[in-house]
Amino acid sequence: MNKDYIHEFQNKLLDWYDENRRILPWREEPSAYKVWISEIMLQQTRVDTVIPYFLKFMEDIPSIFTLANISEDKLLKLWEGLGYYSRAKNLKKAAQVLLEEYNGQMPSDKKDLQSLPGIGPYTSGAIASIAFGQKEPAMDGNVLRIVSRITVNTGDIKNRKVKADIEQIVIDVLPENRVGDFNQALMDLGATICIPNGAPKCSICPLSGFCEGHNKGIAETLPVKTAKKKRNIEKKTIFVLNYGDQFALKRRPNKGLLSKLWEYPNVDGFATEKDVRLLMKSWGFLTGSLLELNNSKHLFSHIEWHMKAYYIKVEAVQRDNDFVWASKKEIKEKYSIPTAFKEYTKWVQHLEEHQGQAI
Ligand code: SF4
Repeated sequence: MNKDYIHEFQNKLLDWYDENRRILPWREEPSAYKVWISEIMLQQTRVDTVIPYFLKFMEDIPSIFTLANISEDKLLKLWEGLGYYSRAKNLKKAAQVLLEEYNGQMPSDKKDLQSLPGIGPYTSGAIASIAFGQKEPAMDGNVLRIVSRITVNTGDIKNRKVKADIEQIVIDVLPENRVGDFNQALMDLGATICIPNGAPKCSICPLSGFCEGHNKGIAETLPVKTAKKKRNIEKKTIFVLNYGDQFALKRRPNKGLLSKLWEYPNVDGFATEKDVRLLMKSWGFLTGSLLELNNSKHLFSHIEWHMKAYYIKVEAVQRDNDFVWASKKEIKEKYSIPTAFKEYTKWVQHLEEHQGQAI
C-alpha cells in the first residue's frame, strides 16, 4: 500500500466519522475508566442494552477506587440482566490490581492493560488507542468483517493466521494522530454500514472505493466463518416457592456457569406434579396449592436451558435447609438473579395478578 492510498483511506474514514459518529455516553468527556467499563459491557452485548447499564454504573461506581471496594453482591446486582457475569467479577479484580500496583490509575501500555483480569487484545487496544492515543489496533468482529470484505480475504476469520494477517493490514493503515477516532470509526462503520447480518450498505460507505469485495459483488458472502457447534440442551424444573410473603432463593456454586448468582431452587430434568410433591416433602416443606407456570428457554453461548416451572405455596417449613427467603422488594433490589429466570422473576413481581389462577 502506498502512502497516498493509506492517507486517502484514513481521510475518507475519519471524515465520515466526524459527520456520522454515534453519540454515546462513554464518548462524552472520555476517560480511561469510562472506555474500559464501556468496552467490557459492550462485549457480546448491544449498544442500546449497554447505555442504561453504563449510566447507572457510572452513577454508583464512579471510580476505580469505588469499584475495587464494592461488594460483589452489589456489583452483580448492578450487572443483573447484562449476562456474562464473569465480566463484572473481573472488573472488580482488575480494579484491585490497579489500586495495588498502578496507584489507582489505568496504565496506557497495551501489555500492562492485558495483564489485568478480563482485558484481552481487543479491549487493551481500544483503551490504549481511545483513552491514550497509542497507535494500537482494536481488533473485533467488526474490523475483521470490514477488512476481509475490503481485501476479499476468504480465510476463516477464526483462524489465527487469518486474524494476524488482517491485524497487520489495520496496523499499516492506522494514522499517527486520531488513532482512537480511527478505531471507533471502524466500530461505527461495522455497526451501521458494513453490518454483519444482511447486505452491507455499500452505496453509502465511505470506503467503497477501496473495497474489492464490493467491486466484485461478493461482499455479502464475506467473512468466512466456520459454523458454530450446536448447543447442548439441558432440561430443568424450576420452583417458585412462596412462604408467607417470601420466596426461596439459592446461591449458585462458586465456580462455573452463573457462579455466585442467585436462582430459584431447581432440579435437572422435567418433573411431574407427583415428582414435585415428593421432592418438596424430602426438602421438608408442607405444600399447599401448586400451579404449573409457562415453560421458558434461555440460550447461553454453548448450552440451552429448557425450563418447566411450578409455583408452590408452602404451608410450613419442617426443617432447616440452605435456602434464603427473600421478599419481592429484596428480589428486585438486593439479589442478582440471572436473565435466564426472568420469566419467573416477572411472575413473582406480578403475583397478585395471578391470584385468580387457583393459587
Ligand atoms: S463497501 Fe460495502 S462491503 Fe466494502 S467496507 Fe463498505 S459496506 Fe463493507
